[in-house]
Amino acid sequence: MDCADPIRTLSVVIPAYNEEESLGELLERTTKACRSLNLDYEIIVVDDGSADRTAEILDAAAQAPDSRIVAVLLNRNYGQHAAVMAGFSQAAGDLIITMDADLQNPPEEIPRLVETAGQGYDVVGSVRVDRRDTWFRKFASRLINALIKRYTGKETGDYGCMLRAYRRHIVDAMLSCREHSTFIPILANSFAGRAVEIKVRHDERKFGDSKYGILKLINLMFDLVTCLTTTPLRLLSMFGLCVACSGFFLAFILVLLRLLLGPEWAAEGVFMLFAILFIFVGAQFIGLGLLGEYTGRVYTDVRARPRWLVRKKTGTPLSGRPFPETPDIGGKQ
Ligand code: UDP
Ligand code: MG
Repeated sequence: MDCADPIRTLSVVIPAYNEEESLGELLERTTKACRSLNLDYEIIVVDDGSADRTAEILDAAAQAPDSRIVAVLLNRNYGQHAAVMAGFSQAAGDLIITMDADLQNPPEEIPRLVETAGQGYDVVGSVRVDRRDTWFRKFASRLINALIKRYTGKETGDYGCMLRAYRRHIVDAMLSCREHSTFIPILANSFAGRAVEIKVRHDERKFGDSKYGILKLINLMFDLVTCLTTTPLRLLSMFGLCVACSGFFLAFILVLLRLLLGPEWAAEGVFMLFAILFIFVGAQFIGLGLLGEYTGRVYTDVRARPRWLVRKKTGTPLSGRPFPETPDIGGKQ
């Protein structure tokens, strides 16, 4: 399992939720793009509990003779990222490409992703040039991408674009994580040794509307933040520390002024009560933050993400047994 290994097989994973209108064109264009490559391929479409004819169409397409389409039908709506994970668990390719079912990601970009991954990359991300979405979506994305950029220190990033390619071992590592709230591009990047981004076209949604309402978007944003970091929990103790410090400072000033200006100025100690209140409120927040630190650690352990991936092992170990061929996803916490 090395990003320098040749790519012989390809799996395309597509989540679909109420996308009956676009499926025909999607499957046709994706098949054409895959056929143009000299690879064995499969197109896994996951129906995320659609209420329309999506499941029916997929089922029929998968059962057609010589079909390379695999239909995975979920029993209810679990959300885009859970659906992609379900597709991953079915995917057998050396390289796995994810994309949306609404044709906003043109399937014609697949060969470029495969070619770039073949140059020795674990993950190939993509940046949408001339993105065709509402200004609100673009603004929210820009904000979130800036946040991630700040946190990860990686220069570029368009984490909202799902047209991406992952090597087999990265997908295996993601599948071995036990967490339920995942944001796949971030999770993949946390395991990627060599990642790269290419520019891709972005089209307007031809049929139907975005499947993300405001509540789903907020939920996705929280998935993204918690997938990336537990820092927000730490902010509580920072805030508490600031409040407590200002309480101490206020008390100090009050005592000083009381000594200098006399008891009338101090309004019988009313302001002093405020200062004491500040100190206690601050202490409470510090306590909450401390709880947060524990919760964060429990969360990290519960997710049981692999702590490292071994790329290759050589040499003769003490045991004398040769190293197994199977991927080594190590250090389960
Ligand atoms: N999707 C899904 N389950 C959901 C919501 C969306 O499988 O609960 C799929 C949807 O069918 C599409 C992809 O996820 O293939 C991206 O959704 P959408 O195009 O609505 O998102 P947007 O482009 O507005 O970000
Ligand atoms: Mg879309």
